[in-house]
Amino acid sequence: MSKIDLHTHSTASDGTLAPEELVQLAATAGVTLLALTDHDTLDGLPAARDAAQASGVGFLPGVEISANWGPHSVHIVGLGFDCRSPSLDAFLKNQMLHRQSRAELIADRLARKGIEGALAGAVALAGGRVPGRAHFARYLIAEGQVADFPRAFKRYLGRGCSAYVPPAWPEMAEVIAEIHRAGGAAVLAHPCHYQMSTTWVRHLLEQFRAEQGDGVEVVTSGDDATRIEWLGQQAVANSLAGSIGSDFHAPGQWRHPGKIPGLPRGVESLWSRWDLDKTG
Ligand code: MN
Ligand code: MN
Ligand code: MN
Repeated sequence: MSKIDLHTHSTASDGTLAPEELVQLAATAGVTLLALTDHDTLDGLPAARDAAQASGVGFLPGVEISANWGPHSVHIVGLGFDCRSPSLDAFLKNQMLHRQSRAELIADRLARKGIEGALAGAVALAGGRVPGRAHFARYLIAEGQVADFPRAFKRYLGRGCSAYVPPAWPEMAEVIAEIHRAGGAAVLAHPCHYQMSTTWVRHLLEQFRAEQGDGVEVVTSGDDATRIEWLGQQAVANSLAGSIGSDFHAPGQWRHPGKIPGLPRGVESLWSRWDLDKTG
């Protein structure tokens, strides 16, 4: 098992644990290097960093940024950047404006399906922050409209469904450049979770590298050993470093920090680029 986890969420986006609680969970699981990577926001980073320092867990600032790649939405994890970068701050504020208008449109479409009050409900579930589709899914479950997450997406929120609103994120190259401008590394998140064929995933990795991307998540929740091995080979073939991320959102969901496999042999580790004190 790997004691490194460079992809996690907190209540600053759609996770259910506060940043401090997440760090505590990671510390208990023996994690030595953690990145908090909330969706399009840095709000959870100061609290997480303080908690990590107090409990001796190595910490990298992170963020998970949504991007467009052709008709697809992809997620790019930025790691180790300067949290005070004005350009990154402005860029993420823009992402939030886009999230806000998208949330309003999703709520309109749900209302047309007879489901009222979804915006207020999702905002409440997001703790007053801009809600994402996960919050709408939780609202639909709480209202008894659907039984679970997969059904919320299959019936209402997934691509092509009645309350789906196609996002207009910035292009992948722009997001990579923005992360670099702030001094960070750009990592393609969970490449096998975009409902693309293997051929398209290969294409995506080539393009990500061509656009100066630094790494790829070789180990992520939901992938079996065969897939991890394959992604390791793709990383090497495209000269991308390998990263590890549980994509932890909530206790009991997916894999937990400290409970994910390590990188396959021969894959360069992304975190070796930082001079980190991991002795804590
Ligand atoms: Mn999420
Ligand atoms: Mn993601
Ligand atoms: Mn994520």
